[in-house]
Order: sequence, then structure tokens, then C-alpha cells
Amino acid sequence: MGQCPSEFDLIERYFSLGVPSKWPSQGIGDDCAIISIGHSNVAVTTDTLAIGTHFLFDVDPFTAGYKALAVNLSDLAAAAATPRVFFLALSLNKADEVWVERFSSGLKKCALQYGCALLGGDTTRTTFIGQERAPITMTITAMGEVQKGLMRSGAKVGDDIWVSGTLGDAYAALMLRTGVWQGTCSQYLAQRMDLPTPRVALGQFLQCCATACADVSDGFLQDLGHILERSAVGAEVNVDACAVSDDLKAFGPERIRQAQLAGGDDYELVWTAPTQARGAIEAFAKDSAMIVSRVGTITAEATLKLVDVSGASVCNTYHGFDHFDQ
Ligand code: ADP
Ligand code: MG
Repeated sequence: MGQCPSEFDLIERYFSLGVPSKWPSQGIGDDCAIISIGHSNVAVTTDTLAIGTHFLFDVDPFTAGYKALAVNLSDLAAAAATPRVFFLALSLNKADEVWVERFSSGLKKCALQYGCALLGGDTTRTTFIGQERAPITMTITAMGEVQKGLMRSGAKVGDDIWVSGTLGDAYAALMLRTGVWQGTCSQYLAQRMDLPTPRVALGQFLQCCATACADVSDGFLQDLGHILERSAVGAEVNVDACAVSDDLKAFGPERIRQAQLAGGDDYELVWTAPTQARGAIEAFAKDSAMIVSRVGTITAEATLKLVDVSGASVCNTYHGFDHFDQ
């Protein structure tokens, strides 16, 4: 057999089924499917999280509940949708009421915060693998209301590339908690890993000026790569242009780059917009006390070129997250 296929190879090879839908949509490949039903557009997304894969084994179930919904709302934000409802499929390895109660509290906190109602789901028991209980998994399908919506396709040559927030914080928290980096994980970094903020208001605003958008879940360069691929364009990115949090600054330039470019788990938005939109974007950011960084430009040549603050070329050794990359 050849090389092990990536997560994205598997999706492209086996899940582009080619079965036509009577509900028009743009098909697979975006953060959400935007489906036209009558005169309305509904954005739909689904994400599975597993204890041990997306969470450390000792995760507080409150965090698991909050984050399971928040990451789905981040996909809705990338499509410029307003969250409305969600469905929850939960596979537990035992009926641990203490765990479920805390999980439910975290879920409820996020649901209340974003006005997203739980409308259904499924609760099952996972099996044993040998003597071991299989890990808990949670799958959420979230739906939101959207006007035109935003997709990963649509970036144009000459557009600016923007990103929200301070990337890299969640990755730093993971590295510190697992002992890969030495030091203590600050409360701020822990919170950035545990309780991500889906950028719902930003996504809605961007509908007026962005040409393409994605959320940053698997590493900035990888998620920008999806925009480039779907838009059939390239980019030049300044690897030092993204805002860095005070807590990440302490870890030095190379770790900052690794965390910001490839770390993942940020749940910020990356988008492209014409240069004329700079003023509007900066004004929105100021009004909503949100950090945004202009980090690059869309180019015609279908490659991703990295430069540093002096304009010197930087070798791209930064790989984002792939579930099957061992
Ligand atoms: P996200 O990180 O925003 O959840 P991904 O980049 O992981 O999305 O997925 C890329 C695209 O592939 C998305 O449009 C997603 O809906 C689709 N996809 C992923 N897995 C499957 C699958 N098993 N069947 C059909 N589509 C899938
Ligand atoms: Mg996404």
C-alpha cells in the first residue's frame, strides 16, 4: 500500500458521493453547508470531539460541554451565520451522572451565551476495547440563519489576508499542560484552550466586505490553505504580523511562530477582503474591542510564500493538524 492518506484525502476520495440534492447548496468543503430552503438560507455544520483526542483525558467535563458547542458555533461564525439550534449525539462509557451533570452545565453556559437551543440528539454507550472502556465522544450538529453567507472560495488576487485575535494561545496551553514546554500554564492560556470564543459577531459583520472566510481550528496556515485551494489563488504571509498575547510572548520567537502558524484550536477567523475594506474592518475591531491583524496578501501564483517582518523569505516547515498524521 502507498502512503497513509490524510484526513482530507479520505474525505475527497470517499465522501464526495455525487448524489444530487434537491436543496441547493455549495457542497462539501466549507466550514458550513449553506442550504437554500424556500427563501431562507440555513448554515449547517457538524463536529465530533473525543476525550483523549480533542481533550486531555483528565479534562473537566464542564470544559468538554462548553467547547463541544463552541467549536461548532465557530464554524457557523465562519459562514456568517447566526446560531439558532443544535443537536447532540453523546457516546458515554458508563452512566456517570456526576460527569454528565458537569458536561451539561458547560453545554448550557455556551448555549445560553449564544442563544442556541438544543433540539434533539442521541445518547448511547461506547463499547470496550479489550479491557478498556472506549473514550467518550460527542458530536454536535449546529444550524444557523444566514443571508448570503461566507465561504472559503472567493478570495481575489490583491485582497488582504486578516486574522482575528491572538493566535497560538491554546497551543501554548496544550504544550505546557503536557510538559512539552517547561513552565506553568497561566489562567489566560488555559482559558484560551478550554473556553474558546466563537467570533459570531465578527463573522456577521464580515458578510459586508470579506471575499472568503474560514475558522482557524487546525492551524492558521492549514486553514488559510483551504481558502487558497478553494479560491484557486496563492498568498504571501508575513509570519510575524499576527498579534501575540503577553502570555505567549514569554516563549520566544520560534515557539511563537510554531504556535501561531500551525498550533490550532484557536477558533479565530481568517478572511480575505479588498484593500478598500481596511477602514471598515479596523473600525469594527475598534468598536468591538477586538484584535485583528492584517497578515498578508492574496497572489495569483498558487503557492504560499512566507516572509518575515524584514521581507526575507521564511521556509515553511509548519504543519497543521491532521487526525491521521502520525
Ligand atoms: P472544519 O474543520 O471546519 O470542521 P474540515 O476542514 O475538517 O472542516 O472539513 C473539510 C470539509 O469536509 C468540510 O466541508 C466538512 O463538512 C467535510 N467533511 C469532513 N468529513 C466528512 C465526512 N465524513 N463526510 C462528508 N463530508 C465531510
Ligand atoms: Mg471550521
